[in-house]
Amino acid sequence: MENKKLVMIPGPTPVHQSILKAMSEETASFKDPGFVADFLSVNRDLKEMWKTEGEVFVIAGSGTLAMEMSLVNILSAGDPVLVVSHGFFGDRFVEICNYKNYDVDVLSSSWGQIVPLEKIEDQLKKKDYRALVVTHVDTSTGVKAPAWEIGKLLKDKFPDVLYILDGVCSTGGEKEYIDEMGVDILFTGSQKALGVPPGLAILWAGPKALEKRKKLGKISDYYIDFDKWLPIMLDPSKYFGTPPVNLIWALKEALRLIKEEGLENRFARHQLDSQAIQSTLEDMGFSILAEKNCRASTISNVLYPEGIDCEEFRKALVKEGVVVAAGLGEYAGRLFRLGHMGNIDRHTISSVLAALERTLHRLGRLEKSPRFNPRW
Ligand code: PMP
Repeated sequence: MENKKLVMIPGPTPVHQSILKAMSEETASFKDPGFVADFLSVNRDLKEMWKTEGEVFVIAGSGTLAMEMSLVNILSAGDPVLVVSHGFFGDRFVEICNYKNYDVDVLSSSWGQIVPLEKIEDQLKKKDYRALVVTHVDTSTGVKAPAWEIGKLLKDKFPDVLYILDGVCSTGGEKEYIDEMGVDILFTGSQKALGVPPGLAILWAGPKALEKRKKLGKISDYYIDFDKWLPIMLDPSKYFGTPPVNLIWALKEALRLIKEEGLENRFARHQLDSQAIQSTLEDMGFSILAEKNCRASTISNVLYPEGIDCEEFRKALVKEGVVVAAGLGEYAGRLFRLGHMGNIDRHTISSVLAALERTLHRLGRLEKSPRFNPRW
């Protein structure tokens, strides 16, 4: 019998049975009254749970589509934008801004660290920025940005700068409440801490962002224009583009599970689990790329001890039934990325940690014997 693979990459994350079941319903017309009611309840829940007076957009696409959507509805070519980058996905924002001909400046940290708040404040004083963009958790580094503190800085001192927060690797795992944080646009993809299969881009726009969209008039992007989607989000029986019916059911069930757990409990669970995972990995001889003051609760980017070959390690780990992702950019070959977000339970976490330890042992890289090492 084949071993079940525990897919512990940073998305897609394991999908709960009840979500799979919700998805497997026979596809309905998007005008079906039952589906329309379901879509409306999803939209209502998303706004209530992440606490915004603004609106939410749920459209077919991946996180990158949402990145683009977050920019084009509030910015025009030539507008000054500040990107605070803590890795690969922050840098992707810079690339998109260049495609759109914005006047983009970037503040980057060394991988594993954050850009200090004072540096962000100094930069904001230098130009009349229209927006500041930051990735809450950069998946390439496992660094969590001080997203609440940045929000406070903007609210207190730069209220005209719109705040875009990339929540693709955080929303549903790290604490985020949109209006309270001072965030104007938050977005995520379905496949990460919400625990839904890939395919949905979810974007919240607060009142200031919606106001800004109005002022822009006609924009040059079509599929990701707020104006095209807003009537559908308010009344899903209307048509703009065919909604991914089964994925919206999956999201409805994912939100039900989150409400059952409680969002605050879910944030606390992610924090507790990540601390347990990270300290156990350190005990085994690995180290964590992100410095202690900025470690994410949703992902660990785990540096190999000297002399371990990444491909060999990941292949040996697959034999133990666990799939992790390789490092990106300058850390390709030097670390693996372990996702621990969404609907993963502690049985899974224990199995994954035991598999990692056994893999080190099999490669002759463990000083002590593994704590759990059946001789099959
Ligand atoms: N932002 C972050 C923080 C991400 O982790 C990712 C995907 N790993 C993206 C954006 C892009 O999302 P997608 O791959 O769904 O397009």
